[in-house]
Amino acid sequence: MTMSNDEHLRVSKIKDGTVIDHIRAGQALKVLGILGIDGANDEQITVGMNVSSDRHSRKDIVKIEGRELSQEEVDVLSLIAPNATINIVRNYEVAEKRRVDRPDVVEGVLSCPNPNCITANNEPVTSKFDVLEDGTRCRYCEQIISDDIPSLIDPE
Ligand SMILES: [Zn+2]
Repeated sequence: MTMSNDEHLRVSKIKDGTVIDHIRAGQALKVLGILGIDGANDEQITVGMNVSSDRHSRKDIVKIEGRELSQEEVDVLSLIAPNATINIVRNYEVAEKRRVDRPDVVEGVLSCPNPNCITANNEPVTSKFDVLEDGTRCRYCEQIISDDIPSLIDPE
């Protein structure tokens, strides 16, 4: 039996962990960034980019072995991957599906791009953004970010 790489990737299973599916094609690395996954820990990550989704479209898929994403982490994903589906896998079976819900507030994940913002000046203040229809707004300086969210992810 032979399989194309696409098919192999789609059916290969992880034992325990999280599968993030239906990420917009090309966004997988941004998803890893917003989750703070850089391969520094022992997590085994499988990234599939531009995988056939159906006859007409392509998607990215991320598999994280040995880690279950929390609802908070899943909600943050909504900023860049609103249509992603999250499968929590235990012992090779999908044990839970999580929906990506847009949170009202994102705390401590993004850093404010405004150099005059109190959160950008090493103050011991946790960044806090309100999630609006068309962007996210800094709670402290009211700067609105409408795109390029991944570049603002706090490396810590
Ligand atoms: Zn700010």
